[in-house]
Amino acid sequence: PIRIRNLTLSFGTTKVLKGIDLDIGAGEFFAFLGPSGSGKSTLLRAIAGFGPRPSGEILLGERNVIGLQPWKRDVGMVFQSYALWPHMTVRQNVAYGLEERRRPAEEIRRRVREALELVGLDAYADRYPSQLSGGQQQRVALARTVVIEPKVLLLDEPLSNLDANLRVQMRQDLLALQRRLGITTIFVTHDQEEANTICDRIAVLSDGVVQQVGEPDHVYDQPANSFVARFLGTAN
Ligand code: ATP
Ligand code: MG
Repeated sequence: PIRIRNLTLSFGTTKVLKGIDLDIGAGEFFAFLGPSGSGKSTLLRAIAGFGPRPSGEILLGERNVIGLQPWKRDVGMVFQSYALWPHMTVRQNVAYGLEERRRPAEEIRRRVREALELVGLDAYADRYPSQLSGGQQQRVALARTVVIEPKVLLLDEPLSNLDANLRVQMRQDLLALQRRLGITTIFVTHDQEEANTICDRIAVLSDGVVQQVGEPDHVYDQPANSFVARFLGTAN
């Protein structure tokens, strides 16, 4: 499980996260929703260990990971910008994390193949990122993260560059994968329908504050305040 307690983070003198409290259960598929600039990416990056050091607590299991280097957290993150290695092929990009972890060559080949099949890019293994479309690069970034089978998966709008059909298919695949591996997953999206169809619970953020947490149906039916009602476009 993930427990976040009174998490506060500033860029210089600007406070961007203002006392976040959240509990996310083991194996849960959780989403952050909120307007642009509300702090979704900043919160996700803080959980992964990137960006300025926050105050408060981020407990992954029993450990408070604040101050711990990202690679020691057992967390995998897909960034809003994919951050692929330009000089490596798709296969090499996806294999990188497993090579770093010194997995046997045969296992690396198998897991890279499975990850590329998952995202429908097995035919593109020998291309370089510059030879791929934006949506294909996004899928490589996803494959590169799930291949290491992290305990916590953090996804910052991982499907935003896909066309509508692929997006619907990928979110089903992602949900199936999440259920199969039982990975605790936090998903950032602008797409409310996406959050509704695949997430167990959502948190609505605005201006660095969590406005409401709950199952999507509940939050839609009973928005906690006028901000949530307006943001979700309900009439209450
Ligand atoms: P979007 O939906 O547009 O991706 P977001 O909810 O992910 O938005 P964040 O990227 O977390 O928003 O940004 C939250 C606030 O922090 C914004 O006001 C942004 O300008 C500010 N911010 C983000 N990164 C930095 C940075 N490196 N330096 C200074 N301010 C930053
Ligand atoms: Mg963002």
